[in-house]
Amino acid sequence: MAAKPFASSADLGEKEQTLEVLADGVYALTAQGDPNIGAIEGEDFLVCFEALATPTAAREWLARLREHTDKPVRYLVLSHYHAVRVLGASAFGADVIVAHEKTRELIAERGEADWASEFGRMPRLAKDPDSVPGLTWPTLTFSDRASIELGGDRGRLELRYLGRGHTEGDIVAWLPRQRILFAGDLVEAEAALYTGDAFHHDWAAGTLDGVAALRAEALVGGRGPVTRGREAVDAAVAQTRDFLRTMIAEVGAVHARGGSLKDAFAAAHAALVDGYGHWPIFEHCLPFDVARLWDELSGIERPVVWTAERDREVWDRLQG
Ligand SMILES: [Zn+2]
Repeated sequence: MAAKPFASSADLGEKEQTLEVLADGVYALTAQGDPNIGAIEGEDFLVCFEALATPTAAREWLARLREHTDKPVRYLVLSHYHAVRVLGASAFGADVIVAHEKTRELIAERGEADWASEFGRMPRLAKDPDSVPGLTWPTLTFSDRASIELGGDRGRLELRYLGRGHTEGDIVAWLPRQRILFAGDLVEAEAALYTGDAFHHDWAAGTLDGVAALRAEALVGGRGPVTRGREAVDAAVAQTRDFLRTMIAEVGAVHARGGSLKDAFAAAHAALVDGYGHWPIFEHCLPFDVARLWDELSGIERPVVWTAERDREVWDRLQG
């Protein structure tokens, strides 16, 4: 059998993007498993959620959004620090870039390395990579919660930190009046989880409990289609939790008996492939996911920084 191509390096086909109006002035753009993005209208301004990988990619999204509204972007909210979600920020011309305080620290600590790592793993998302002017720096950070009054009778947008999960600093954006949740990468709907920078145990327990407790009627996850209706939202959260728990059980068992990382990868792959193997980026993510979980089980508190070199080394060891 031929070796699997590195990460998503061979996944170069264009994805179809779909813009959905979820409620008056609430927009989501999904793209067949590529990163999702959103926008919320205030009375005389816009809040954008996530920034895509490059300004060129972001400008294409903004052009579609401009078919619905010409309000200026006052706030750009970043759910977490990953390059394919933040490096398009300059295209928005936002007055304020909002993120969790940990996200700002992570950008300072590992933003450069993550940029090289993610653009190498997912070259298709890095559309016109030279259009990125540099790292994206949040200008307003918070630790627990923040809210944006939308004006008129539009209610407010609440930004919340629900605990460590996909990264150390994920936030969600919640519209309590419309009961719509932008969950970032804390929840994936019919897409595999990337957990290479995650805190698996926290995420699978209290953090997802916090997401479920909002009782959203519609959920925009990090990737995959918009989930509509209480039952479907619960199912998306449950599926995310099942993916994490299965990994924890399988990798944990191999770790406990003194097995190898490669054994752990094989066990996790075998347990997940029937249920999740057909979803976008499953084969791409799993080596990085298992490597981080292995570290977590070994007592390494914070995720080791991914570099382009470490990516290749782990890939060759587990998928090569
Ligand atoms: Zn992410």
